[in-house]
Amino acid sequence: MKEEKVDAHDHARKSSSNLVDRKANGVDTIIHINGIDIGAGEIVIIAGPCAVETREQMLATAKEVYDGGANMLRGGAFKPRTSPYSFQGLGEEGLQYLKEARELTGLPVVTEVMDTRDMEMVCDYTDIIQIGSRNMHNFPLLKEAGKCRKPVLFKRGLMATIDEYLLAAEYILKEGNDEVILCERGIRTFETSTRNTLDLSAVPVLKQKTHLPVIVDPSHGTGHRWLVPIMAKAAVVVGADGIMVEVHNNPEEALSDGMQSLYPEEFAQMVREIEIIAGAVGKKLYHYKPLHV
Ligand code: PEP
Ligand code: MN
Repeated sequence: MKEEKVDAHDHARKSSSNLVDRKANGVDTIIHINGIDIGAGEIVIIAGPCAVETREQMLATAKEVYDGGANMLRGGAFKPRTSPYSFQGLGEEGLQYLKEARELTGLPVVTEVMDTRDMEMVCDYTDIIQIGSRNMHNFPLLKEAGKCRKPVLFKRGLMATIDEYLLAAEYILKEGNDEVILCERGIRTFETSTRNTLDLSAVPVLKQKTHLPVIVDPSHGTGHRWLVPIMAKAAVVVGADGIMVEVHNNPEEALSDGMQSLYPEEFAQMVREIEIIAGAVGKKLYHYKPLHV
C-alpha cells in the first residue's frame, strides 16, 4: 500500500491555523480602540518617534503628530537594536512618558514588547501592544500576547513568507486573542537602495487570505524619509487599513531611525495627501479629535 505523504507545514495549516483564514470569519475583523475602529474602511494614521528618548521629545512629538492628523501615537520603550551598544530604550520610564503623551493628546498609544516578562507591565501602560519584526517567530511571546487583554499590532518578519506570517499570527488567535492588526514593514531582499523591500502586494494578498486588518509601515519599509509619503499613499491605494510612520520633532538628533523619521510638517503634508488619495479609492481618513491641545 502506498504511504500517504503528509507535509508537516500543510498539515499544520489545514488542521490548526484556520482562525486567521478569511473563511473562518466571513466578515472583516474590526478592532475597536478607545473609539477608533481599525479595519472598518477608514484609514487610521499611527505616528510618533521610533523610540521614546526623553519626556520633552515624546510630548513635543505627540503634540506635533496630533496637530498633523494622527489618530494614534507610537513610540518604543524597549528597542530591538542591531547593536547591543546602540540606545536600547528607556524601559518603564519611557512607558510613563508615553502615558503622559496619551493624556496630553487623548490619542491611544502603541508600543513594543520584546520580553514575555514585561508583558503585564507593558499591557498596563498601552492601548495596543506591538510585536516587532524580529520577534515574529518568538512563539513564547506570541502565546503570551494571545493571553493578554490588549489588541496586538503584529509586524511581518524580515524573512517571512505571507503563509509563515499568518501561521505566526495564528499562535496569538489560538490563545484567545483575536484582536490582531497585521503590519507589512518590508522584507529583506538583495536590493540595497532601500533598507527593506516594502512588499505592497502583501496587502491585497493578506486581505484575500485573512479577515484581519492590515496596515503598512513605510518608514521601516524604505529607510528613507523622502520615500515615506510616496509609499504611504501607495499603501492606501492597494487597500491598507492604516499607516504607521515615524515622526520626530528633531530627526537630526534622533537616537534611532532619524534618517527615516519625518519632520512634523512633512507628516502633516503627507496626511493631507493621504486624504485625497483615500477619497480617490472610495475611502476616508479617520477623523478622531478627542482633545484640543
Ligand atoms: C518599530 O516599529 O519600532 C520597529 C522596531 O519596527 P520593526 O519591528 O518593523 O523593525
Ligand atoms: Mn524605528
